Amino acid sequence: TQQRDGVDQTDNYTDAGPVRVKKPSFKKETAKDSKTSPLHTTEVPETNRKRRATEVPPVKTPKDAENETDVNEDTTGQSDSQGTLDRSSILRQKMEARLKSARFRQINEMLYTTTGEEARRMFQKDPGAFQVYHQGFSAQVEKWPVNPVDKIITWLKRRPASEVVADFGCGDAKVARSVKNRVHSFDLVAVNKHVTVCDITKVPLDDETVDVAVFCLALMGTNISDFLREANRVLKLGGVLKIAEVTSRFENINGFIRGLALFGFKLVSKDLSNSHFVMFEFTKISEPKTSRGSAGLELRPCLYKKR
Ligand code: SAH
Repeated sequence: TQQRDGVDQTDNYTDAGPVRVKKPSFKKETAKDSKTSPLHTTEVPETNRKRRATEVPPVKTPKDAENETDVNEDTTGQSDSQGTLDRSSILRQKMEARLKSARFRQINEMLYTTTGEEARRMFQKDPGAFQVYHQGFSAQVEKWPVNPVDKIITWLKRRPASEVVADFGCGDAKVARSVKNRVHSFDLVAVNKHVTVCDITKVPLDDETVDVAVFCLALMGTNISDFLREANRVLKLGGVLKIAEVTSRFENINGFIRGLALFGFKLVSKDLSNSHFVMFEFTKISEPKTSRGSAGLELRPCLYKKR
């Protein structure tokens, strides 16, 4: 049943997901150690010992990887000139990483369980939250074998540079920074000059002015149907809707495709070959056929487990 677009056929990633890299853990200090070793210790992290032939490195399933986060968890600590580690720095960094990670999970959950308008108000009150969110988001996606935004960029580069692109929920506007096309980049907060701040239910573009609308991991919130109505409004007839979404968010991929039909989009191709995300290409064939709320179009939130 799998259809693939031309771009995706060049990739050949396994579905095994990223290999777990064991975090350094330190041998407990014995009474003897504490007498002889100063606070700056040269103990060797467990990761440095040789793996016995019979030990199999643990492999994360894609599911594990999606649902876990160790955002910014840096356990390397501070080193002195000999490269030795300071225990209190390590502890402090671990605590800070845990707090950041908890904050990331909280903001992430909020983004998936509220409307864009509520999210916008939250970021307005607390602009630092957006940075925490994006650090966490990037740390998560960097662990994936492929970042979907890079696939979208590769795909766009093979299309005419004259096409106008709208990047809905653009984050740091990597698309705009990577292609020659005119790209309108929209998000709730502007982290750089490419981003126009707005709720993607109402973007400042005229009707039928866009050739390609991109949603890369951006169908967040409880009102994704409003995002898709807006994409339909700004897209020209025959324009392309490109969607990348986390695989585990779909209860039923064909149901999602049928749902998109109600918003005037016909499937061109779907690519299920990536371990963490699904990529779709649709084309606009009509105005939305429904004005009814979400028209049953829902995705599961993408929540991350506490480690
Ligand atoms: N597309 C980017 C960022 C993905 S993260 C990339 O792949 O790298 C999802 C982004 O969607 C976040 O930056 C979030 O702020 C944005 N977003 C979610 N709901 C939004 C809304 N209602 N209006 C504008 N941006 C929204």
